Amino acid sequence: MRAFFNGIGFFESHVHTNFSDGTNYRLVIQTAIKRGTNVLAITDHNTTRGYVHARSYTKKYCKKTGKDLLIIPAQETETDKGDVLIYGLEETIPKKTDLETTIDLAHEQGAVVVLAHPHNLLLTYLMLKMIRNYKFDGVETFSFLYPNIINRRIHSLMIQFPHLFKLIGEDAHFWWEVGWYHNILELQDLDIDSVIKALKQNKIKYRRKNMPWPYNIKFIVNAYHVGPYSNAGFGNLLKVVMKLDRRKKINEMK
Ligand SMILES: [Zn+2]
Repeated sequence: MRAFFNGIGFFESHVHTNFSDGTNYRLVIQTAIKRGTNVLAITDHNTTRGYVHARSYTKKYCKKTGKDLLIIPAQETETDKGDVLIYGLEETIPKKTDLETTIDLAHEQGAVVVLAHPHNLLLTYLMLKMIRNYKFDGVETFSFLYPNIINRRIHSLMIQFPHLFKLIGEDAHFWWEVGWYHNILELQDLDIDSVIKALKQNKIKYRRKNMPWPYNIKFIVNAYHVGPYSNAGFGNLLKVVMKLDRRKKINEMK
């Protein structure tokens, strides 16, 4: 039986799984539900495979536990001008497609396109120019990858674009980073169309919980996948630790 839905979506908008550079999708889903998420976008890099697997696992898991979680078809796509998040798409959009075509292909499918973490475009004027020149639907203003002082700056800069909806996203690459940031949506129903509609209506509230120690070292830890040090020793060491931890968790679940 489906759990009672009260019309409020706690939407987590930026999460990776093992189908790109994240951690086990089952742990991601269980953690999200535990921390109050009822709408989750699996935004793996250049693929919707994570979404497909997450959807079927969630169906079984929710049936067993009596919980409710809607998985939104999504992907984070690499374009010639950086990463964009796409929500509500039906078919995967290939990576390295130019930005304009990516946005058009997404819109043809009824999906919405969000500029992902514009924080790393160091030159603000280039970022603003890009937002003016392309038909984005939204922009991610808060990202766990960056300290809050930068997040707040980006959020206030974006106020000059009232037509764009703003999302806060964790860019979670580890299952324990899931469930701290929620975009709060008023939904007619717990389904994909209602979520896309609510985003387009641009009436979003936010709930940010501060990550307690040791989770809050995220933006330092994440240096491992940012920039030229992506395969440096620290990152690889961390991956080994994560793998061992994951194995332990999966064994516990059995
Ligand atoms: Zn990401």
